[in-house]
Amino acid sequence: MKIYCDYCGTQIDTELHRNCPNCGGSYAGDEELIKEQERLDKLNDLEMRREELRTDRMELENSSYMQKMRSEKEITAFRRIIKYVLIAMFVGFFIYAMVRAANMMDRAEDRMAENSPPASAAETAE
Ligand SMILES: [Zn+2]
Repeated sequence: MKIYCDYCGTQIDTELHRNCPNCGGSYAGDEELIKEQERLDKLNDLEMRREELRTDRMELENSSYMQKMRSEKEITAFRRIIKYVLIAMFVGFFIYAMVRAANMMDRAEDRMAENSPPASAAETAE
């Protein structure tokens, strides 16, 4: 950085000179330099804090992503169960309807047998 010598006012480039190139004065305790150092320290702190925040955010995003994946898996499993339940209900109802239809047909046949001549009734009687 560039500061001004406290003794003679010459501009000093601190990266090139350890002392004032004009009067040889030390700038070790120079107010500008100390302030600049503090500023750089603060910037460093901010940079570190920002890095921490960035890491925190990444962790948060990761965990919320994992949570989302998990809940999606649960929803998929739930949907699968619902699907199987519906299929089972449908199959059950189908079987019930078939059995009912068969019973009705048996009863109709019985009624027809009751109405037919005795010889035929003897054939179909149980
Ligand atoms: Zn000087």
